[in-house]
Amino acid sequence: MLYHDDGNSMDTKGILANVCIRLTRRCNLNCKICLASNSFDDMSIENVNKSIEILTSLGMQCVRLTGGEPFLRNDIFEIIDFCLYKKLKVIVFSNLYDIDTKFSEIIKRSINITTSLHGDNVLPTMNLPL
Ligand code: SF4
Repeated sequence: MLYHDDGNSMDTKGILANVCIRLTRRCNLNCKICLASNSFDDMSIENVNKSIEILTSLGMQCVRLTGGEPFLRNDIFEIIDFCLYKKLKVIVFSNLYDIDTKFSEIIKRSINITTSLHGDNVLPTMNLPL
């Protein structure tokens, strides 16, 4: 439960519908544009799942698992399965590097994978026709 400064409980329904959780700052690439840093330890799976539990109770419906590269975590599918157990829509942000080694596990689960492409000569604001 969240509270206003005056002590009254807050209606949290919908305010945390979409939440990003950075599962790791480790990555298998080293992009120039990167804001992630290897200088922090990963959050433990116990704390990740506890956070998911709390956020779900506050109305989270969609969780975006980011990094670094989330698939570097050995427990990534345990985390995903817990999110699915909590009936969350799951989006994993991945650079897709080495994704073929995870593919057999990914396709067993109803999740979305999102990636982004960047190049040295591509402006961040450029919209490509698809
Ligand atoms: S793939 Fe993403 S997290 Fe990894 S170094 Fe590049 S920008 Fe950073």
